[in-house]
Amino acid sequence: MERMWSTWRSQYIESFKEKSEKKSCVFCDAAKEEPSDERSLVIAKGEKVFALMNLYPYNNGHLMVAPYRHTSDFESLTAEEFDEARRMLQNAHRALKEIANPQGFNMGLNIGEVGGAGVRDHLHFHLVPRWAGDTNFMPVVGEVKVISQDLLATKRKLLERWDP
Ligand SMILES: [Zn+2]
Repeated sequence: MERMWSTWRSQYIESFKEKSEKKSCVFCDAAKEEPSDERSLVIAKGEKVFALMNLYPYNNGHLMVAPYRHTSDFESLTAEEFDEARRMLQNAHRALKEIANPQGFNMGLNIGEVGGAGVRDHLHFHLVPRWAGDTNFMPVVGEVKVISQDLLATKRKLLERWDP
């Protein structure tokens, strides 16, 4: 595990300043990208929801599924959004098992600041593969966001196993 984490920390290929002044939404911005873009973290786009890698992964393979609709209101999720999110999460769950053989998963929604939501205004489901002893957190350094090479490599592996 230690070796994996030091590799992650060293292999930063890109960094860019946070667009904090613009009040842009990372999910709404990401929804405009295409999975075929090799620099995008977006994995899949459905009719109502899409999947993307987490820029600040708790673990290798940590991904998220979000509705295109910008909402923080869980109760407003429609049956179509929820069902497509379920199918996308199940697809991701299977693909992660195939590429990374995790021993367990965490899955869910963090709602509101006290619920631990990093982005409060746009609902998103987390899917985090787990291995015994993986209690480290990726460090978040200052105002600079980075996309590690390993993150994009994991995305490519997931794409190979993803059912369209
Ligand atoms: Zn949004």
